Amino acid sequence: MKKKNHKYIFVVGGVMSGVGKGIASSSMGKILQSKGFKVNPIKVDPYLNVDAGNMNPTEHGEVFVLDSGLETDQDLGNYERFLEMSLSPDDYMTSGMIYKHVIEKERSLGFRGKCVEAIPHITEEIIRRWKKAADNHESDVSLIEIGGTIGDYQNILFIEAARTLKIKYPQDVMFVMVSYLPVPGSLGEMKTRPTQNAVRQLNSYGVQPDMIIARGVQSLDLRRKEKIAMACALPVENIISAPDIKSVYDVPLNFEKDKIGSVILKTLHMRTKSHNGELEEWKKFVQKSQNGKKELEVAVVGKYFDTGDFVLSDAYVSVIEAIKFSSYWAGAQIKLTWINSKEYETGGRKVSELKNYDGVIVPGGFGESGIEGVLMAIEYVRKNKIPYLGLCYGMQLAVIEFCRNVLGWADAHTTEVNPKSSRLVIDIMPEQKKLLEENKYGATMRLGAYPAVLKKGTHAFNAYLSAEALAKEDGTLNISERHRHRYEVNPEYIAEIEKGGMIFSGTSPDNRLMEIAELPKSVHPFLLGTQFHPEFKARPLHPHPLFSAFVEACLDEKKKKATLFD
Ligand code: GLN
Repeated sequence: MKKKNHKYIFVVGGVMSGVGKGIASSSMGKILQSKGFKVNPIKVDPYLNVDAGNMNPTEHGEVFVLDSGLETDQDLGNYERFLEMSLSPDDYMTSGMIYKHVIEKERSLGFRGKCVEAIPHITEEIIRRWKKAADNHESDVSLIEIGGTIGDYQNILFIEAARTLKIKYPQDVMFVMVSYLPVPGSLGEMKTRPTQNAVRQLNSYGVQPDMIIARGVQSLDLRRKEKIAMACALPVENIISAPDIKSVYDVPLNFEKDKIGSVILKTLHMRTKSHNGELEEWKKFVQKSQNGKKELEVAVVGKYFDTGDFVLSDAYVSVIEAIKFSSYWAGAQIKLTWINSKEYETGGRKVSELKNYDGVIVPGGFGESGIEGVLMAIEYVRKNKIPYLGLCYGMQLAVIEFCRNVLGWADAHTTEVNPKSSRLVIDIMPEQKKLLEENKYGATMRLGAYPAVLKKGTHAFNAYLSAEALAKEDGTLNISERHRHRYEVNPEYIAEIEKGGMIFSGTSPDNRLMEIAELPKSVHPFLLGTQFHPEFKARPLHPHPLFSAFVEACLDEKKKKATLFD
């Protein structure tokens, strides 16, 4: 049973994919939060993958990891960032996940001999999960984004499940269609027909949208709003204009210009609970994001950037957002340049170009290609004292570079790339080895939140301390961060690496796993790598301490350089 008066908002897409359903859902959630409601967002991905873990980031974008370790769609990252909450496994579902559960239940006689069918058994399982997620969060409103576009074969069962909820609770369920209005170049006019057709298609499923969010390169004028309203049988105020804008963080404020909050409250028979100033805080952040006077140029060196002629920064959205938040709060505008490390290997680019940047980030990644190019970049920034932040693979490679070029272990490598190397300074965890031998790739990495203890006096310690993490009486600091990796710093070499001058400033509480590696300030202004992914926990109103420390270091070094040339 659903909680009395609990509300559901279903968000579906019309005309085409990629129009920003995730940002629209997050923004509606933000607005509801500002009116005192507790919300819980859910992402439905209609594909058959059981989770997003085995999907190629160049095809599907970033794999976002929750505290629990579930590997999810990047939209969960948008939800966490906009709504300042940590989500759990029940907040994400795929068709694969649902079918797997229902089929396993059938195999164990869970349906007691009945014929198991898509309707009602799949739809009932979908609804059970939606209700459970709402209960977990004790929320007032669930925002459920149904992936794909109206007309897809794959998402029909989810829409059917939502339709049955609407029939059962007509006052408590609302459908929002995020649609696209093209402006064909030859006409220069915004066309409403594709949206009208998408609504008809939705109608053919027995669902009438309650609101249409009209995405487009420009705002929707009143005439076209009236046209859509008339054709789709909606009040004109329920057609919301959502033009392209510079930053996704402007979207909640922009939605409020069309009074989206009141339309939602009216449709769902709700009254504002409290005005808590949530949107005021948000406005402050948006202003910060626009008013930074300082400039920062950071190079991101890695792989997964190019698909054909396109640079796919979607694969690293959390990294991009994390660095933005820290820059904005430091009063800086950030420019990121994506450099494909393979070009350093072929000679297409020279690593010395990195001197033109204020800092370098090497994000996570897998496999062999482009690795030597990354190592060349790390060697350059280490020697030239350019601030460096390495994330996961970026930490492992910083350790390898240090071993090769400082300790003189020319053969130092990771088992992932060259298992025959005589110095496997990054090695597979024993429990992982067995899984790979058995081809068990799904959800088997070291995933999700694990604690780490930080060493006093290090970059890492100071960064977290300034972000109000609590130091314990014995002077240590405990943190928790999200992971997604199979390989580790090899325990056999830890003592020697430390003797050589690299500090493992964060370790697992049992001291077995190295979580953060850095160079002392006396040697380098800021060279730090994390085995975990700090980017998953960076939020607009709470930037991540390590990204902030990196940004500070970039700004400091830039200032030093500028005074040098004065
Ligand atoms: N490929 C490395 C590993 O599996 C790093 C993973 C990552 O960067 N997320 O350990």
